[in-house]
Amino acid sequence: MGIQFLHQLTGSFSQPSAENPTVAMVEAAFLHHKLRWRYINCEVAPANLAAAVSGARAMGWVGFNCSMPHKVAVIQYLDGLAPSAQIIGAVNTVVRNPSGKWIGENTDGKGFVQALREVTDLPGKTALILGAGGAARAVAVELALAGVTRIDVVNRSATHGEALVKLINERTPAQAHFRAWDAVLQIPPDTGLLVNTTSVGLGAPDDELNIDWSSLHAGTVVADAIPNPPQTHLVRIAKAKGCTVIDGLGMLVNQGAIAVRLWTGVEANRGAMRWALERVLGLAK
Ligand code: NDP
Repeated sequence: MGIQFLHQLTGSFSQPSAENPTVAMVEAAFLHHKLRWRYINCEVAPANLAAAVSGARAMGWVGFNCSMPHKVAVIQYLDGLAPSAQIIGAVNTVVRNPSGKWIGENTDGKGFVQALREVTDLPGKTALILGAGGAARAVAVELALAGVTRIDVVNRSATHGEALVKLINERTPAQAHFRAWDAVLQIPPDTGLLVNTTSVGLGAPDDELNIDWSSLHAGTVVADAIPNPPQTHLVRIAKAKGCTVIDGLGMLVNQGAIAVRLWTGVEANRGAMRWALERVLGLAK
């Protein structure tokens, strides 16, 4: 047989897309595993999402990521949802299954939980989640499904915080409570896991969360969802206190690796993916 000129296609639909580094990370995985696959980063406006999904189907794409602002809107164009995506109500990865159906998955929270499992046991833990947006929903639902028994949601907006607490209490086995973030936050001493899912620190490594840092103890595992720069104020202070720390780049790499596995069946090399990300983000040493 001659050289094959046809690649398997995947990609991403988002707006804006120019600064989304996922293409570098996923193509590094394809290259590392010698897969004849491509990942195409596409700028898609909300008005063009239906046509983009039809186009991907017509061209035989194997799946795609969708990022802001399409994570909820894409659901109407799919054939079904995986269980956690159904609870979260948002999709970041679409997978064509063997019978040709397009299934929505959410790998944001799964990637986070996988990174956490490498450093700590989750069943029976208590978690304090800072923020109540899309990332918080994905993380909270996956933590609850992984056996975290109590989740405290701390957020500025009570409307967002209470909506997330209601979702966790009604749709998962965990018990959730809302705490308004209207003063300097004291971290309760029995907090097993502290997770930042707010946007504080994104592109601003010195921006500081409104926390009394003397209440953070070495026994708390700390995770920050901010991918860039990964050395946030929270990550630095938690490391200095002796906490076990997971940065947002780890979460990003894991959710990408899970998407690659869902599309290709290959357990992607996370080191190769992280290295590619660090290189394009200018973080490689
Ligand atoms: P949303 O806009 O949905 O939510 C933002 C959250 O941050 C809200 O809870 C908001 O509170 C809170 N917030 C914003 N500013 C402040 C502040 N100054 N002080 C306290 N709270 C604040 O965003 P997402 O949930 O989609 O994303 C959040 C972050 O997570 C982003 O930085 C994103 O890069 C990151 N992320 C990382 C991923 C990864 O793989 N590493 C995956 C997905 C997201 P309020 O409700 O009061 O406005």
